[in-house]
Amino acid sequence: MKSPFSRREWLRSGALLAAGFSGLSRWNPAQSYAARREQAFFKEFAALADDQPRIRARIAFNENPHGISPKAKEALIKAVETGHRYSWMESAQLKQLIATKEGVKPEQVMLCAGSSEILMGAALYFTGEGGKIATCRPTYDDLLELAQAFKAEIVSAPLTKEYSYDLNALKAKVTPDVKLVYICNPNNPTGTIIPPNELTAFCKEVSQKVPVFVDEAYIDFMKPEDRPVLPKLIAEGYNVLITRTFSKIHGFAGLRLGYAIGPEKMLKGLRDFTRGEFNLSVTTVMAGIASYQDTEWQSFVRAENTKGLDLLYKGLKEHGYEYTPTHANFVLFPIRMKGKKFEQEMFKNGIFTSTREFDAQPYCRVSIGTLDEMGMFMDVFKKIAG
Ligand code: PLP
Repeated sequence: MKSPFSRREWLRSGALLAAGFSGLSRWNPAQSYAARREQAFFKEFAALADDQPRIRARIAFNENPHGISPKAKEALIKAVETGHRYSWMESAQLKQLIATKEGVKPEQVMLCAGSSEILMGAALYFTGEGGKIATCRPTYDDLLELAQAFKAEIVSAPLTKEYSYDLNALKAKVTPDVKLVYICNPNNPTGTIIPPNELTAFCKEVSQKVPVFVDEAYIDFMKPEDRPVLPKLIAEGYNVLITRTFSKIHGFAGLRLGYAIGPEKMLKGLRDFTRGEFNLSVTTVMAGIASYQDTEWQSFVRAENTKGLDLLYKGLKEHGYEYTPTHANFVLFPIRMKGKKFEQEMFKNGIFTSTREFDAQPYCRVSIGTLDEMGMFMDVFKKIAG
């Protein structure tokens, strides 16, 4: 695929430089959306750091509350001995493992320091020169807002009444000026999924016209029969890009590891806008190799997540609250007070969770913590909202 916005081409083009062509020069991190958002984040967290002892349940960011696998811990400690080396060999090993499992070539896999890096790279690669991105909303806005902060326009269809992606409505948004379709499956913040056969058919059809990006950050929480097998489409030559992360089932949110699977040519183009494997510490990669193979730990985390969900569902039902059944490690449900007030009241009682508002209705999106954390969440919830 021809990159709509190749940094190398741009750098080579003296004429464009002389003309003051904006291109990447627009990317002023000090002013970018990401930087502004991160500033807000850090401010909030600096305040939270003082309050740290008060936080009894940290269930705001869909992190894995059980930590990393014991085998990954062992690998991490061992890897310290290799800390003076770049991680090329270890990264190649992990890419090979992923490629073998997914039935693609290692060249069709790219590792990154968390999938956020690929979301950012994709925003620049596909729409750095403008154009539209089609999606359904509400969804995970990271790539969309980053793209918008440059020059892209987002065209979106609403989710269905069941809060799922509406693929027909999305297809209708794909006009010739759409440069990318973004899908999040399971969707964050709703936890809903697209039936695998429908998503596969959509990708096959739409990717003939425009690349389809599927963010599969929460795929490991899905039942095996619900999981689409999109790497197969990539192996068959379809213009589809998927991202996965180690931040969730593997518990690597702080260690930072994610990957993309996509056509080799597309990954080459994306490389102009990410640092790929070069950003990875050898400790993270070696721990990643151990964790990737530790299916026992992944099953344990999935099973604990189900127990936490059951506890939450039961509590919400008891108090007459509706919720959207989830396929991930978080649940979205409408609340009966202003979001900020809910967050503050919960926080005062040691529960760190998050809210958002759609169509003037506030919702809580609570991550599934340990059973203890979910018990604490329900106790406080009863007190302030029951
Ligand atoms: N995609 C989705 C849907 C997410 O919810 C997240 C984080 O919560 C990410 C991507 C980014 O994850 P990371 O950069 O930690 O891999």
